[in-house]
Amino acid sequence: MVDGAVVIVGAGHAGFQVATSLRQLGFKGRVCLLNDEPHLPYQRPPLSKAYLKGNAGPDSLMFRPQKFYADQTIELIAAHAVKIDRAARKLMLASGATLDYGHLVLATGARNRLLDIPNANLPNVRYLRILDDSEDLRRRIASCKRVVVIGAGFIGLEFAATARIKGLEVDVLELAGRVMARAVTVEISEYFQARHAASGVRIHLGVMATAIEADGDEVTGVSLSDGRHIPSDLVVVGVGVLPNVELAAEAGLPTASGIIVDQHLVTADPLISAIGDCALFESPRFGGSLRLESVQNATDHARCVAARLTGDDKPYDGQPWFWSDQGDDKLQIAGLTTGYDRVVLRGDVAQKAFSAFCYHGDRLLGIESVNRAGDHMFGRRLFSAGGSITPEQAADPGFDLKKALA
Ligand SMILES: Cc1cc2nc3c(=O)[nH]c(=O)nc-3n(C[C@H](O)[C@H](O)[C@H](O)COP(=O)(O)OP(=O)(O)OC[C@H]3O[C@@H](n4cnc5c(N)ncnc54)[C@H](O)[C@@H]3O)c2cc1C
Repeated sequence: MVDGAVVIVGAGHAGFQVATSLRQLGFKGRVCLLNDEPHLPYQRPPLSKAYLKGNAGPDSLMFRPQKFYADQTIELIAAHAVKIDRAARKLMLASGATLDYGHLVLATGARNRLLDIPNANLPNVRYLRILDDSEDLRRRIASCKRVVVIGAGFIGLEFAATARIKGLEVDVLELAGRVMARAVTVEISEYFQARHAASGVRIHLGVMATAIEADGDEVTGVSLSDGRHIPSDLVVVGVGVLPNVELAAEAGLPTASGIIVDQHLVTADPLISAIGDCALFESPRFGGSLRLESVQNATDHARCVAARLTGDDKPYDGQPWFWSDQGDDKLQIAGLTTGYDRVVLRGDVAQKAFSAFCYHGDRLLGIESVNRAGDHMFGRRLFSAGGSITPEQAADPGFDLKKALA
């Protein structure tokens, strides 16, 4: 039980959810949710998808209106935390004010990894993480003609698909030999490469951007490691993120590629938890430490911590799932496919509706589905129930997945 206020640093998916879940679980103490962005807490995934494409206003992204926070007595505090005094159980804010905590939840998320090449700081070299980035890119998409996207990860490709739909010439640069190489199987990479190519997006694999070319402050193109030069008037960079660990590290808490927490999402200090994109957590189920960047991970972490703080202390055992919308295609991933050595396809690639069932030996690790929501939901339910199906069953179109759940 908590002796004092629960103070939550960061009002993204994880921070918002922990505050909300605390109230849902009947927590009666003070809840302070620190928000250092100039908007009510909002959803991030649409920033590179529907929001970027459409005309909706920022209100459409908000988790809840202002009134919700007052009704739930969640103190939404516009502030950036700068220091933790663990001995005094105080959090220092950039304004100079301090907040006492009974328990501190670090939900500081991640920030974009910045490109370190000549001219990378020009006005038309952009990133996409926060609402203001998406707003800004909407305007630039409307006024620019040619964009080079650096990085063929989820965000780069989602942006590329939208820019193409909006009529821009689009080139995507990727250092790896295939798109989304860190996240999906070869089969899924190849499908999306072909789909983007069919829509007119040019994807260049195995190349690095070496410099942004400019005329004064105006971007004129990008130079590549293979000597080519691609003209453009806009560059969008999606080369991954860095977890925001500094607040924890400066307070003496162990960090590595995230703030280190145990199976219960507690840091080395029992009065401080870390959740969401910033947390490197111990996962017995997946054998080792994991840091995931997904809404599922952020919200399930948050629910786990809220349960612990209200008396139900269990190790975190969330089932990973993820999605990405690229053009007309919806990719959904259930489970973690890292370490797979065998892929079984189900469905029809030509019909643009199929799933890649990923196995290590006979052990089903995950399912990557393209426009097959049924397979995805099956995977989530199967993994939650601790079940599996054999590669032969997955490959058999006559095999009824529902039976496997029963
Ligand atoms: C464009 C985009 C598209 C995405 N699409 C998908 C998707 O389709 N599916 C999916 O599952 N995931 C997607 N993600 C990832 C998902 O949004 C993140 O995993 C999720 O937002 C993580 O939540 P979080 O609360 O841990 O971190 P964040 O959402 O990053 O929130 C952290 C917050 O903490 C604040 N903060 C940091 N330091 C401090 C401080 N010292 N004091 C106060 N506040 C601080 C930050 O400003 C930020 O507001 C996407 C992300 C982006 C950027």
